[in-house]
Amino acid sequence: MPTFVRTEKCDGCKGQDRTACMYICPHDLMKLDKDGSDTGHAMKSYNQEPEQCWECYSCVKICPQNAIEVRHYADIVPLGGSVQPLRGTDSIMWTIKFRNGNMKRFKFPIRTTAEGSIDPYAGKPEADMSKIEEPGFFCQENGYRAGDPSELICK
Ligand code: SF4
Ligand code: SF4
Repeated sequence: MPTFVRTEKCDGCKGQDRTACMYICPHDLMKLDKDGSDTGHAMKSYNQEPEQCWECYSCVKICPQNAIEVRHYADIVPLGGSVQPLRGTDSIMWTIKFRNGNMKRFKFPIRTTAEGSIDPYAGKPEADMSKIEEPGFFCQENGYRAGDPSELICK
């Protein structure tokens, strides 16, 4: 079930060069159609390769307009299945519409830290990229033997 942008809700992230969905997609699938030449909808984003979608739902969750829906592929879209989020400040409500017409809603808590505020190393040493080709952990002391976590310096 790849993502689908509801153009009536998308505001193109207010004309930023890099929209939230473009920023978050691990596969660079989301694209802002600035002049409408791709889709006929100027300043709206779209999933440029739905068949490549990982269905990770990252774009769905980050979209400030709740404009991104998850739909079945085109051959079964007319049957009506869809997944639609509604994001709040501390939770997200998922509305799942099944093809048989059943509807279910699930509410889950979401992270409340400001976007970009995470410190990925949290005081631990940064990765030594000169060792990228070597086996082992990035934070190992010299000579770390697999299976002995007491030798790690970033416990
Ligand atoms: S994150 Fe949402 S509002 Fe922003 S461009 Fe993407 S679909 Fe549109
Ligand atoms: S669901 Fe994941 S892979 Fe698919 S378009 Fe959204 S962010 Fe990209």
